[in-house]
Formats: sequence, C-alpha cells, structure tokens
Amino acid sequence: MLNRWTDLPQASTPGMPEAPDAPNGPNALDAPDATDALDEIVHVSRLLGADPALVLHGGGNTSIKDRVIDVTGEPVDVLYIKGSGWDLASIERPGFVPLRRDRLAQLLTVRALTDTQMMNGLRQASLDSSSPDPSVESLLHALLPARVVLHSHADALLALMNQVDGRHEIERVFGERVIVIPYVMPGFDLSRLAAELWPTLSSSRTEGMVLMNHGLFTVGETAEEAYARHIEFIQMAEDAAGFVTTSRGPSTALLDGGEGGDLLKLAAFRADVSRCAGRPMIVMQHQSERARQFAASPDVAARASQGPATPDHVIRTKRLPLIGRDVTAYAENYDTYFSANRARRGAELRELDRAPRVVLDPEWGLVTIGASAKDASIAADIYLHTMDIIDAAERQSGYRALPTGDIFDVEYWELEQAKLRRGSSPKRFQGEVALVTGAASGIGRACAQVLLEQGAAVIGLDLAPGITTTFDSPDWLGIQADVSDIDQLRSAINDGVRRFGGIDIAVPAAGIFAKSAPIASLEDDAWLRSFAVNTTAVARLFGLLHPYLALAPNGGRVVLIASKNVAAPGPGASAYSASKAATAQLARVAALEWAPDGIRVNMVHPDAVFDTGLWTPELLAERAAKYNMTESDYKRRNLLQLEILSVDVGRVVAELCSTTFRATTGAQVPIDGGNERVI
Ligand code: ZN
Repeated sequence: MLNRWTDLPQASTPGMPEAPDAPNGPNALDAPDATDALDEIVHVSRLLGADPALVLHGGGNTSIKDRVIDVTGEPVDVLYIKGSGWDLASIERPGFVPLRRDRLAQLLTVRALTDTQMMNGLRQASLDSSSPDPSVESLLHALLPARVVLHSHADALLALMNQVDGRHEIERVFGERVIVIPYVMPGFDLSRLAAELWPTLSSSRTEGMVLMNHGLFTVGETAEEAYARHIEFIQMAEDAAGFVTTSRGPSTALLDGGEGGDLLKLAAFRADVSRCAGRPMIVMQHQSERARQFAASPDVAARASQGPATPDHVIRTKRLPLIGRDVTAYAENYDTYFSANRARRGAELRELDRAPRVVLDPEWGLVTIGASAKDASIAADIYLHTMDIIDAAERQSGYRALPTGDIFDVEYWELEQAKLRRGSSPKRFQGEVALVTGAASGIGRACAQVLLEQGAAVIGLDLAPGITTTFDSPDWLGIQADVSDIDQLRSAINDGVRRFGGIDIAVPAAGIFAKSAPIASLEDDAWLRSFAVNTTAVARLFGLLHPYLALAPNGGRVVLIASKNVAAPGPGASAYSASKAATAQLARVAALEWAPDGIRVNMVHPDAVFDTGLWTPELLAERAAKYNMTESDYKRRNLLQLEILSVDVGRVVAELCSTTFRATTGAQVPIDGGNERVI
C-alpha cells in the first residue's frame, strides 16, 4: 500500500537534469555537500509524491537543512525547501530553494507580518535569485530543528482529525510522539504559533507535529528516518480511522446521448454554469460508480455540506459542492456566503465567480467544473479523496470540517487575491471545446494543435489508432472512429461531451482523395466512398452537433475544411471536386439555417498543402514530373510562390473561430497562395 524506502530508484540516476549553472550568482547548488543533501531530499520527495493518498496536486512539501559555501567562500547554513510550481512526485534538484537559515530565524522573531511581507522576506532569504518562490510553509520547516522535515495532507490523517473529537483522537493515537497545533490558517501566523509551541511541547520523544484540520509533519536526521515515521504515522491513522481507499475504476457510461438525452441536459447545464462563471467552463462527467453511489445516497446533502477536508482544497472545489443541478440557487447561496464573511477581512475583496466546481447528482454521479480540463480533473481527484475521508469519519464519530469563516479566509487569502489583481489573461479559447475530424495527421492535426495551443479542449477523431496519443494533454481526447459510420460518429460525440461537457467548435477536416480517373472510367466505389467521407459524414456530423453548437456559451462555430477544387475543379478529380462542392453547399445552407442560433459557419479552401497524408513522396515526385518541374518548384506553383503548410490552415481556422470574425458567417477563405482560377 504505502511505498517502501527502496521502491523508487535513487534520485541521482542518469538522465536526472543537473541544477542550472548560475555563473553570476551564488553557486550554493554546486557545493559538494549540497549534492548529497539535494539527492536525498529529491528521492524522499518523489516517494511521498508517488502516493496520491498522501499528496495531491502540488500539496505537501519537504525540506532538508545543509551547509553550503557561497561565492565569497563563506559557509552558509541553508534550508532547501520545495519551491512552488513543483509537484513532489516529479520534483528535481532545481525545484528546491536554498534559504539562509539565519534570515529565517530572524523572520520568526517578528511579531506580526502579512503573508505578502512574509513571502517577500522568504524570497530575500534565497541564495539563488533564479530559484522558484519558496513554499509558504517554509517557516514551519525552518522552526523544526531536525535535518529533514516532511509534510503531507494524508487522507487517513484528515479522516481521523476531521471528526467530532478529532483532537482527542489524534492525541489518543499518537501520544507523545507528536505535538498538536490547533488550526490556524497556513501562513505567517501559523508559523509563529508553531514556533512558540514547539519548544515547550516537544521532548526527546517527539517525532513530528500534527496541524489540526491540515496535515502531518515528521522529522528525522535522515530522509529515511523522517519517511519511516511518516508512513508509520499514516498507517496508524488508517488503522484508527478505519480508513479505506475505495476503488475508483471506470464503470459503464452513466449518461446517454441522443435527442433530448442526458448529454444534452449536461450541455445545457454547462451553458448555465458558464453564464454563472462569466466565461466558458469545462464540465466533466466522471464514469465512477462509486461516486454515483455517494451522490445518490439519501443523506448526501448532510454528508457533503460540511466543507472541504482541508481548507486549501477550497481553491479547487469551492467550499461546498452543488447537490443537484440548480446553478442559480448555488450562485445565490455563494453571494450570501461572500456577503456574510467579507467583513472578516479589512481589505477590499473581489468576489470570485459563483459557479460550483463539484456537482453531486443522483443520476449524473460526480461532475466537476473548471476553467480548463486540467482544473476540472484536479477538482475530481480532490473530491474522490474527500468522499473516502467523509465516509471514514462518518463511520466513526462523524465528519466535521472547519467553520465556514476559516474556509473563507483561505478562499480569499491575500496572496490569492493578489494573483487575481495581477490578472493573467486567459488563452483565447480557454474553457471551450472543439471537435476536429481527421485529427491524427495533416490539416486536421494542425487545426487541433493550434486550437489546443490557444486553450481549447479538443476532441479529435480519426481512423488511425494513433489518434488516442496524437497529443499528450488533459485537454486532448483522441477517439478512433470512422466518420462515415454514423454509430461510431455518434458514440465519439457522446464520449466527447461526457469528457468536456459540450461542443462549441466543429472542424470537419477528414477527407479522402480518390485515385485520379476521368469520368468515363470512374469506378462506382471511388465515387460513393468520396461522397460517404467528404459529404455524407459531414452532413451527419452537422446534424448530430447542431444542438450542442446551439448551447455553446460564446456561440457555436463551424469551419469546414473544403478545397480549392470547389471553385476550381481539376480534370480527373470529379469525385473529390464534386463531393467537396456538395459539402460547401451544405455549409452555406447551415450558415443560413443556424444564424438565428448564433452559430457561425465558415469554410476554408486550401490548395497544395503538401505536409498531409494525401501527399506521399511518390505522388509528389510523379506530379512534379508530370509538369516538368522540380518538387520544390511544384510545391510553390501559386501566385505568391509560397509553400503552404498545414499549420497555415490551422491558424486561419482558429482565427475564424475567434471574436475577430464574430460578424462573419458563410465566408469562404482561400488558403492557396493565390490562384488565378479562384481569383
Ligand atoms: Zn500544508
């Protein structure tokens, strides 16, 4: 269950990136002693991070104390602490920040500091100006005298302390082996309190510190010792709390598609949520039977209306899940919560968006919401762990979360509010969902790539099995499907909607170019297959997607990948030219029919894009020879003499989907380097 000390290879295995050189700065990271200490802390951090029941998504932190030689030749005592932005599971040497311990000790003597002042003080204590921001819990590590300090927010411990008499339980289970610090919000005040309590409460038998409603610290002279204590304590907490990690394996699909089916209701729900958030949001339905049972239990409201298992989850999950589907009522309750608590803080607070992040619905099971697919996944991971914690505590004296005000303080923490005020402009298609056919290669792949780069979640369809791994991103869902088979098409759309909550953008790019043949010798199959893939599949796709596009928070958009052949057909290409022209006509009708739904339908007409599956090296050589040209000249036989790439098409498609073209529908844009027959 828990990883043993020897489970992972030593951190100093080949391939581990070295710490960056800092030629103009202190070279503390290069000091010979530091190498060993850093390897030691990297190894134990990865062990701790490998178990999601101990550390979730950037949670937890670790440190080691060491002596290094700075650029002046002076020995300096440092605390290497995990930097923010690194996950313990994958941390490397540059993820640790060397902080001067004398400076940290001084900071701990100050009576009061805001967390902004504390962070500034911590940054100033760093020996390496290029390292990341140190953890906000750095001072907690600094005040503990042991060489190695490990900190986690382990599920089992949270299950034990989030109970009616949690403190008593902790003291009963761990006795003198830990000191217990009552809940104080993480930051300077907590560090000050712990710095006061540790010297009076600790003894030679103390091996760690429990922060109520927050987490566990263990200490050791070596990483191995601190780790052994950590997993022993968590095992003790598991036994005492009767904690079990439930299986979360996928079950059968919980929602059906189809006209008026549950998936359309999910997409309509996403429209509500996005309106409430003021921006498009990803809505993820999880195929977890365990979560569905939790959501459907008769006392779910009582179980789930207590609050998060540890306050920092509030940033990801909000304080409470939405039980059922009434987004408006949730938003009103959120306003009430904000108004009731804003006076807790003197500062001018900016209200966060009022949309829920976790939804528990008896039919839908667990649905999570985020500004991106990654955020929605993180909310799901956290809530799946929370269910185990709630269930374990409920089996004993009952689950008790912190009072509302304490959760509010973390949700509206000054450092989080400062981040909001600095504001980062989200990517152009953040929270939106695109479906691209033919996405494993060529133009389809390029369209998917550009949309992903600009923040969209993308559902990619292709015949090629490699489609599932064409991109490696939480925003990517690749599905192997034959677009000319309506059942496969419908099933792929349903999977996409379950994953991301709707479809805002459609880019039909899948197409085939039948072997050139004059009409007189055209084979029936080639003609029918061209129409099946290039035309009929697109008509069916349009039909299936229309209700989703009509629900798109920013209005639906379609960009059809048509062809230069629509305006300028080629001899020998009747099946291709005619099928593409028919599809262009379909798209024009869609532009007419769908304008009242706010859906824009445009098309692009690429020509001679050679980095696609249609153009094999043999075909290119053959065509160039036919025109008595070099391959390079053949590729540039357009008015602008440009070689046109798939990515050129991808960029135009993304542009057409953007607000730049909000007033354009029914347009046909050539991407052909200039063609006299088209102009
Ligand atoms: Zn913590």
